[in-house]
Amino acid sequence: MNIGSVGIVGAGQMGNGIAQVFAQAGYEVLLNDISQEALDKARALIEKHLQRQIDRKKITAAEGDAALERIRTTTTLGELGPSDLIIEAATERETVKQTIFEDLQPHLAPHTILTSNTSSISITRLAAGTDRPEKFMGFHFMNPVPVMQLVELIRGIATDEATYQALLDVVEKLGKTAASSQDFPAFIVNRILIPMINEAVYTLHEGVGSVRSIDTSLKLGANHPMGPLELADFIGLDTCLAVMRVLHDGLGDTKYRPCPLLTKYVEAGWLGRKTQRGFYDYRGDTPVPSR
Ligand code: NAD
Repeated sequence: MNIGSVGIVGAGQMGNGIAQVFAQAGYEVLLNDISQEALDKARALIEKHLQRQIDRKKITAAEGDAALERIRTTTTLGELGPSDLIIEAATERETVKQTIFEDLQPHLAPHTILTSNTSSISITRLAAGTDRPEKFMGFHFMNPVPVMQLVELIRGIATDEATYQALLDVVEKLGKTAASSQDFPAFIVNRILIPMINEAVYTLHEGVGSVRSIDTSLKLGANHPMGPLELADFIGLDTCLAVMRVLHDGLGDTKYRPCPLLTKYVEAGWLGRKTQRGFYDYRGDTPVPSR
């Protein structure tokens, strides 16, 4: 099927990036949030990011204007109903997402494909609450969306081949690369990445190495662009802990137990860059290890 119009629910960190890449690829975008302030902020941010691309001569001013014109915003969820594709990118809480899909239902066109950008919630469970589990998929973009090349496509147990092929085609039109994952806790990227970060926190907790030696080891010894603790601060330690809990609960294996030191940092409100303190302290000119 040919997808031309896209409805995006949630205009936060992910929703605004998703809106930008779709508009730049020529799709008509309708962006929804419960908060008008979030919509205004998202639009301003997209404008700033497009301007930066114009300044760097990556796109022309006309292309930037055209992309911005393709994005409309609304606080009325039902207006997204007739879109060919809907991407839910609201707050990571199952009840929030379930309510969104329930509220959308009476407004949907028969052909509308439903997707969720969730990092951890079961796609099969979300799909089961809709009238079209065969047209439901996980559509997992990485942060920051305009920069990251990968999109994970997650098939629920009922997802049909036509839906999968339609989304594969969309990913190609966005100029990104798809990786397919079955619907198991944390999918592929976070299933591998977050336990590695958790292990780095254990390595710190057990005194095997300091913050700097752990990050230097992985950067220079494994060619990672960022050390695992630096990366944890970038992702947010609360998010890392939440993913570890999803893996621990969903797979029931003790190898996924969250490191007590990670829990301690989250309890302290040291969540990483967003609170200016995590494994590093960002309040000065250059980040320094916080302990
Ligand atoms: P965020 O907190 O930045 O944004 C969430 C937005 O959803 C907010 O603007 C909020 O007002 C809005 N919202 C809440 N309830 C709503 C409703 N009922 N209807 C419409 N809008 C509603 O969160 P985020 O980081 O953008 O994450 C969004 C989703 O993307 C989550 O499912 C998350 O797991 C996933 N995700 C996040 C990342 C990341 O690194 N941040 C990466 C991949 C996937």
